[in-house]
Amino acid sequence: MKQIGIIRCEKNETRCPLTSCLKALDQGREGFQDGDGHELVGVFTCRCPGDGVADMARILKSKGAEQIHFCTCMFAHKDKDGWVEGDGLCPDAARLAGGAARAAGIPCVLGTAHLPKGYRPDIFT
Ligand code: SF4
Repeated sequence: MKQIGIIRCEKNETRCPLTSCLKALDQGREGFQDGDGHELVGVFTCRCPGDGVADMARILKSKGAEQIHFCTCMFAHKDKDGWVEGDGLCPDAARLAGGAARAAGIPCVLGTAHLPKGYRPDIFT
């Protein structure tokens, strides 16, 4: 059972209660298809300009997280035909995930639920 932390963007904080992300984690779908099950250890909300993400990653690790996922809405947007890579809520999603991975020393993954068609989750180590 892999222990998971999630970091989401403040721009969606009051609009999305992470329903799809948590279902995908629970059911081992979308961004959570690796390993034999996943358990959530905690969720943090990033605040612009993202300076706190490294500390959030370290804290999630201290709570047991073995891997951190950044929500799909940070790097993808919903189109009329579904989710499409690009034009997400955060122009710095990859930089944040890379920095978080280096700070905490655990993999950081771009992607949770509703992955864009053909997208394979970017994993930063
Ligand atoms: S830095 Fe990016 S992820 Fe963090 S709050 Fe700002 S837009 Fe959202």
